[in-house]
Amino acid sequence: MENQSSLDINPQPENTNTDKTVLKGLTLDELKNYFSQSGEPRFRGEQVFNWMYNHLVTDFFDMANLPKVLRTKLKDNCEIMTLEFVESEVSSLNGTKKYIFETKDKNKIESVIIPEEGRTTLCLSTQVGCPLDCKFCATGLMGYKINLTAGEIYDQYVLAAKDYGKENITNIVFMGMGEPLLNYNATVKALEIFAQELTTGISKKKITVSTAGIAPKIRDLADKNLNVKLALSLHSCFEDIRSKIMPINDKYPLRQNIDAVKYYARKTRTRITFEYIMLKDINDRDDDIEALWKICKEFPCKINVIPFNSLQHMNPAGLSAELEPTSPERIEEFVQQLRDKNITVMIRTTQGEDIAAACGQLAIKYTQ
Ligand code: SF4
Repeated sequence: MENQSSLDINPQPENTNTDKTVLKGLTLDELKNYFSQSGEPRFRGEQVFNWMYNHLVTDFFDMANLPKVLRTKLKDNCEIMTLEFVESEVSSLNGTKKYIFETKDKNKIESVIIPEEGRTTLCLSTQVGCPLDCKFCATGLMGYKINLTAGEIYDQYVLAAKDYGKENITNIVFMGMGEPLLNYNATVKALEIFAQELTTGISKKKITVSTAGIAPKIRDLADKNLNVKLALSLHSCFEDIRSKIMPINDKYPLRQNIDAVKYYARKTRTRITFEYIMLKDINDRDDDIEALWKICKEFPCKINVIPFNSLQHMNPAGLSAELEPTSPERIEEFVQQLRDKNITVMIRTTQGEDIAAACGQLAIKYTQ
């Protein structure tokens, strides 16, 4: 006979406003341990893992290979979903789709689907807001509220995949609201779940963590052997300019981050991506081309050049209000000069600026 009271054990009490044990966010090993501590066979953990993360099931009664009595006990004692759908909006320009989801403690977060030639990327949030205050970023302007749990990170995928079609999502980036490496434990747990491949069917090579540069955590992530791809928000190769537009650079200077990403590239055998938002007269000068070349010639990497999206909808103050986009002609010239130096450079087309879903524009419009 199954032991109902033992199902009250919460192995990872990481979640939210509920008395029930939240299973979403537990890794395969944690789920197996949970069931074995509950007096159930360990393989039940694998079955539930498969239902939640692979089949995207949101109700224990749909877990067809579990005994009915166990499904009832799980329903009484556990929860699956950590987020609720609030609304979505589709860009009339290019089909980019922005979702707003709500956590159990009533925080709203955003996730974005970006359809492009040959792939469709889901951009996930890891925090409500962000503490880093990058001057070109709407999320930075809204400030920081709280870290998301691993379950809340994964459930953005569940809800987006159920709506958009799991088979239609080919890539995942941790590049939405928040700095993933400041929510390191939840980010790593979510990556461990995604990296099982049996869950999403998306290979590790198509999962990217984007960081503003938390050097010690970049090294920690390399040592986890998850071997997902890493993107560093570079935006300037000069420490003083970078500190002005990204205050985190005072704490973790660029030189430390370059050493850390080199370590990451070596350890994981992956190529680093540098994100580079083009800001007129700030990082688009000839000196910047030279400095980028000096960094990029040292190890395998590529640069994603990103046109700057206006923040005027946020009524910014200070430096954020003064930032202007580099002209398209100068971007072309800048990129060509880098390519002439044998550096791989992509220009990221702006996606979803009409619905404030483009890079750097994510910020909740609700008053919470
Ligand atoms: S760019 Fe990233 S790290 Fe910087 S404020 Fe925005 S969300 Fe935070």
